Amino acid sequence: MYGKFHHDTYEFHRALHDLFEQFFKKNKVEMATHNAVVELRNQVVALLDSWIGAKKIETKFGIKIPSSATPPSIEIFLEKQTRSRNRVYRACEVCGEKRITHYCHIIPNSVGGPNAEENYLYLCPIHHHLFDHNGLSEDEWRKIDFSKKLPASQEYAKGVRLPMFENFWKSEG
Ligand SMILES: [Zn+2]
Repeated sequence: MYGKFHHDTYEFHRALHDLFEQFFKKNKVEMATHNAVVELRNQVVALLDSWIGAKKIETKFGIKIPSSATPPSIEIFLEKQTRSRNRVYRACEVCGEKRITHYCHIIPNSVGGPNAEENYLYLCPIHHHLFDHNGLSEDEWRKIDFSKKLPASQEYAKGVRLPMFENFWKSEG
């Protein structure tokens, strides 16, 4: 899932990394400055990744990702880590299971879906698997409240994913 997008941007990441390495070789900077510059580089990479992702989605599906789609933030990452360390999980958005849930991208990372809270669904392992493989029942699909998600994620769910599920429901008869 993650691989394709990573592959597409690999050269660019590599070039940017080299650019900063050269900068640090030429300029002796204090550790604090070094860390601040690395942090800035990471933010630039995250911003560019989400911009490239947005362009890809627009080209492929005609769905526009608003600029408010936030790049991965360290706060979200740390919050997720704490949650899984303490085994405090958000309830599954389909069945309410709280003992373990995963977050799952509505617009997948592989097509450039942003690592933004509003592009996530929290799902228990069963519903996560069924969501990824278009296997949710119609009732289960309807339990998911997409109204608080990114407008682009809502559009993707309705315009790209729902038709896949509908095919499955039809085949189930
Ligand atoms: Zn569930």
